[in-house]
Amino acid sequence: MKKKIAVLPGDGIGPEVMAEAIKVMAKIEKKYDIQVEQNWADVGGIAIDNHGNALPDSTITTCENADAILFGSVGGPKWEKLPPEKQPERGALLPLRKHFNLFANLRPAIVFRGLAGASPLKPEIIGEELDVLVVRELTGGLYFGQPKYREGDKAVDTMIYTRPEIERIAHIAFQAARQRGKKLCSIDKANVLTTMVFWREVVTEVGKQYPDVALSHMYVDNAAMQLVRNPRQFDVLLAENMFGDILSDEASMIAGSLGMLPSASLAAPPQGKTGAFGLFEPSGGSAPDIAGQGIANPIAQILSMGMMFQYAFGMPQVYNDVHQAVASVLAQGHRTRDISTPGQTSIGTQKMGDLIAQALS
Ligand code: NAD
Repeated sequence: MKKKIAVLPGDGIGPEVMAEAIKVMAKIEKKYDIQVEQNWADVGGIAIDNHGNALPDSTITTCENADAILFGSVGGPKWEKLPPEKQPERGALLPLRKHFNLFANLRPAIVFRGLAGASPLKPEIIGEELDVLVVRELTGGLYFGQPKYREGDKAVDTMIYTRPEIERIAHIAFQAARQRGKKLCSIDKANVLTTMVFWREVVTEVGKQYPDVALSHMYVDNAAMQLVRNPRQFDVLLAENMFGDILSDEASMIAGSLGMLPSASLAAPPQGKTGAFGLFEPSGGSAPDIAGQGIANPIAQILSMGMMFQYAFGMPQVYNDVHQAVASVLAQGHRTRDISTPGQTSIGTQKMGDLIAQALS
């Protein structure tokens, strides 16, 4: 099998952690006999320096010619004085999402065995391990609905969802649940919002095509509470844009370090195909406070690469392999600084990448 990816390392720790994901990917290519052609391009602050804007046309072309985008992170103090729309995050990530119509955001909140101490929740609530996936609709709902305006002492936002918008995100969530624990909880506010009554109806209809996935529904206020009371009850959570924004941040906080959390933003899969074009990136930013020191945690970037194989190339077994390799390295007690406990020796970015790559073979 041959695949082509755009590699956009970006700024700060982006290039450092990307190097480790590429190292681990080389092992996967060998193991599964896949050839992945890498086309590297500038994005974010480095693209502003080299090309005058955060998302140059040449980078968009590189992405258009690829099956997936592996993204690092962008931004840093050097570019913070630019007008907001020209800054690395706003100037690169939002336009990329728009250009490729990336409507589904998938963020797993994972607590690996032995890392429950990194969570702000009590260890008995986290249990031995935790893995909850939040699937968020990214291009509709209250954030984008029209009319949207301010007029004197009045301001208006509108929540709108159409059937096709709900159906396509529901399919993504059901398919993700099918590859995991086969449980999907759809979040809404059907007791108050008409859009959310409709959301619940459509998700239920789509669910008939997935009899192997147990579907439940929960109001968003209850879900926010249940996530801290008993997060282990969840496998996959599906939410509209604003609810998903809030719940995915809450879920990632439960997991502890940002350096551990991958994410994916997906377009609609082509008719009859399993894989979808997508952008795969760590949930955290460019961490300027630790950039250049070789101490960043590469696990989020490595797991993001694993998600690329799962969701863009239709190979969930690769993600499971990568997840297992990470789990085994952590089980041996290896920690980067962000996940080590006081007094514990920590290892650097490259060493962590080496160990995960070794654990894969
Ligand atoms: P951040 O996620 O970069 O850092 C927050 C904290 O988490 C820092 O203490 C950092 O050291 C730590 N951290 C993050 N990733 C880590 C890793 N892999 N290993 C170890 N520690 C890690 O958030 P911030 O400080 O608010 O933002 C810094 C810059 O990143 C800003 O310019 C911001 O705009 C940008 N940013 C980019 C993205 C993106 O590219 N998707 C997302 C968020 C923030």
